[in-house]
Amino acid sequence: MAIMDGCESKHKTPTLEERVCPTCGASVEVFTRRGRVIEDTACECGYVFKAEEQLEAQQRKAPEA
Ligand SMILES: [Zn+2]
Repeated sequence: MAIMDGCESKHKTPTLEERVCPTCGASVEVFTRRGRVIEDTACECGYVFKAEEQLEAQQRKAPEA
């Protein structure tokens, strides 16, 4: 009897999710965790779904000289 129905594990397991490319309209499968893209995924048209998981609430732009 190995019933592992833990909800907590879902938070850690990436989910394959379909996102619609805003550029070409194609469906692209991206890995998400809790609804956020966790890794950069490129569409065949060249558009890249940027990883959102790593972004913190504070998003600063450091001026590059
Ligand atoms: Zn595309």
